[in-house]
Amino acid sequence: MSESSHIKGMIFDCYHTLIDIQTDESSFDTYDAISKWLQYQGVKIDPNALKDEYRNKAKHIVETSAETYPEIKVEDIFGSICSNYSVWDIDAKELGIETSRVFRSASLRKIEAYPQSLMLLEKYRDVPKCIVSNGQRVFSELELKFLGLHEYFDFIIFSSDHGYKKPDTRLFEKALERLGFEAHEVMSVGDTPENDIFPPQELGMQAMHIHDAWKEVEEIEQINAETENTDDET
Ligand SMILES: [Mg+2]
Repeated sequence: MSESSHIKGMIFDCYHTLIDIQTDESSFDTYDAISKWLQYQGVKIDPNALKDEYRNKAKHIVETSAETYPEIKVEDIFGSICSNYSVWDIDAKELGIETSRVFRSASLRKIEAYPQSLMLLEKYRDVPKCIVSNGQRVFSELELKFLGLHEYFDFIIFSSDHGYKKPDTRLFEKALERLGFEAHEVMSVGDTPENDIFPPQELGMQAMHIHDAWKEVEEIEQINAETENTDDET
């Protein structure tokens, strides 16, 4: 990225690029917490049944999709489960959204912004930027907001809004169109070569692994620190 003068726009991946995250979507505890919460919303389903229903519905959507890289929308899945297991009248659409957020918070083990990525965003604050993420807008957008990352981006493209996900190049085509630059003027940054490096390169964009981008900001930090030390000595 040292030739940054040629870069007019940037596309970032989200998870393991900007956000360091660990989730556990398979443990009993995750579904137990959701199941207990759901009772108070008028939905009775035991944790194991909830886990099975969630997984089977997700699998069915993926298997019956016409897309090469199908993507689910979690709130639709939880909305459908809530509607099937309700014990009083509920707003399944709204409850699907809320349940998705409870699901995320119950499965979350760690979440934080990488400090090096924040430094990178600061460095390129004036460059138009977007995110292309294989994420679920219903909770991922909130995570970007509470981690202080959201404000750096002009727009965010989530696979959950489109029914397909990276490495499908269409998500990058949409990003490029909204950024309004030529492909070669845009740099994609991410942690997964098959999702974040190869598809944008296929469209003629520049691409960089996030670890290489971190090295660059760390080197700049080091130079700044050394300069400060030298200044102190003189
Ligand atoms: Mg990633």
